[in-house]
Amino acid sequence: MSNDLGAKPSNFLTKIIQADLDSGKHSEVITRFPPEPNGFLHVGHAKSICLNFGLAEQFQGRCHLRFDDTNPEKESPEYIQSIQEDIQWLGFQWDGEVRYASSYFKQLHDWAVELIKAGQAYVCSLTPEEARQYRGTLTEPGKASPYRERSVEENLDLFSRMKAGEFKEGEHVLRAKIDMASPNMNMRDPILYRVRFVEHHQTGNEWCIYPMYDFTHPLSDAIEEITHSICTLEFEDHRPLYDWAIDHVSVPAKPHQYEFARLNLNYTVTSKRKLKQLVDEKIVTGWDDPRMPTISGMRRRGFTPNSIRNFCDSIGVAKANSTVDVGMLEAAIRDDLNENAPRAMGVLRPLKLTITNYPESQVEELTAPNHPQREALGQRTLPFTREIFIDQEDFREEANKKFKRLVLGKEVRLRNAYVVRADEVIKDEAGHIVEIKCTYDADTLGKDPADGRKVKGVIHWVSATHSVPAEVRLYDRLFNDATPDAYKDEDFMSFINPHSLEVLADARVEPSLKTAAPETTFQFEREGYFVVDRYDSTEDKLIFNKTIGLRDTWAKVEAGSQ
Ligand code: ATP
Ligand code: MG
Repeated sequence: MSNDLGAKPSNFLTKIIQADLDSGKHSEVITRFPPEPNGFLHVGHAKSICLNFGLAEQFQGRCHLRFDDTNPEKESPEYIQSIQEDIQWLGFQWDGEVRYASSYFKQLHDWAVELIKAGQAYVCSLTPEEARQYRGTLTEPGKASPYRERSVEENLDLFSRMKAGEFKEGEHVLRAKIDMASPNMNMRDPILYRVRFVEHHQTGNEWCIYPMYDFTHPLSDAIEEITHSICTLEFEDHRPLYDWAIDHVSVPAKPHQYEFARLNLNYTVTSKRKLKQLVDEKIVTGWDDPRMPTISGMRRRGFTPNSIRNFCDSIGVAKANSTVDVGMLEAAIRDDLNENAPRAMGVLRPLKLTITNYPESQVEELTAPNHPQREALGQRTLPFTREIFIDQEDFREEANKKFKRLVLGKEVRLRNAYVVRADEVIKDEAGHIVEIKCTYDADTLGKDPADGRKVKGVIHWVSATHSVPAEVRLYDRLFNDATPDAYKDEDFMSFINPHSLEVLADARVEPSLKTAAPETTFQFEREGYFVVDRYDSTEDKLIFNKTIGLRDTWAKVEAGSQ
């Protein structure tokens, strides 16, 4: 699959892979994307998806989708469904069927038995509290469990009884026998299996012992003969255990784990636990709320697969953690939509303008290009009528020269139409402007604003009688602090931007949008980019989500505050 950048990415991983292919160590590249189905995917996962699927594509290899489903109590079919949808929406397809670590449970169990027989694993009966004490600390070595020297026979017997459901949760665990004095805490006889009486979404009630992630992950990679197992830096300390597992059982292949830096974005949280909290506490409407950094949230917001992929490519693959400016993601969306989104006119806060010298029943079908540079995107007709709507923000009774819109007694050009002059303001009893009476100049259609008339500006409009009512949801960043989850004594929830959603119920859009399909994106001229909401919008009630403004207004705010 191609992307807009053209050139194939080059990074430390592409170099390793190329060297492995050149040396003949591998003849084909097999990567995998291994989500735990315990939440929706977010922008960080998009990075990992682009990397794993992208590398496979680049080297004509294969990429598996494998659910590492070892924690049934936190997982659900809803997440499994959404994860597949998100990957395909991004434009990737996994090799073969969807895979599940849980379908390897029997093999993993047999390998655990193999370890016991080789004296490499034992059943430990310390309470969780005792086990914590025996484990030691970062500065002190751990102590051997009194159960460490159980005989192979006893271990086999206890393990099979754990599997048969004879013991309570927490009574016994199976541990690897590695090194209680290792400076790496992950190597101090880590737990391989624990008892859990929970139903599993894939295996039902077949098992009451479940393998730990650190045991499951490397061995699942080995079963699938993954050549390059790519994960994020926090797993670096787990690599010795990864290698230990594949070195001590009879695996068909020995994958190698490589770590890269996770994607962190400012103004954004990307911990699934925290995202879930936002959903559970109803700060947002769901995992796919357009303010969420989830793939489905970004999709609903109007971000395109291409823009997300371009963004992931452009930030590169680093070996050290850093934070990327969310403005870079927003710029990638803006670039894509500027190039590809058709233009349209939408009036978000309508103010009626009556053109008193325009015949009452006349309707002119004016034409307008759908894109200023791309003729191929065609044109559309705009009905022009005596009564139109402009935005309330585009009119003032008095203003200085900087206000290049409509001012009482002055002229402005209506985009793709005529020049009008504001003659009179009508107000209600409370003094609010409810209507403006104008006159138009029939000789100005389609002429450049700089046609010698000194018309200050151009504003957008829609016909009052022919436009379509719409609800417009204006979204802004969900957090008003750049690092909402970086403070020790302040919870990330206290940095929620209270103005992240504003609903404009009475907007009007040009009639050509009446039949716009869900998920179609437009540039509303002078306002920004908007997408037809994929769930709530209907032909009877159009709903648009604001994807992003035309300019980066946050950059201005930040620059101004320094
Ligand atoms: P949790 O937040 O629950 O700890 P996770 O975000 O690590 O989970 P997984 O489902 O385990 O979620 O992740 C699947 C893959 O995506 C893993 O290989 C993980 O390394 C990668 N990944 C997760 N978050 C990021 C991120 N922010 N940047 C890049 N890759 C990520
Ligand atoms: Mg994880």
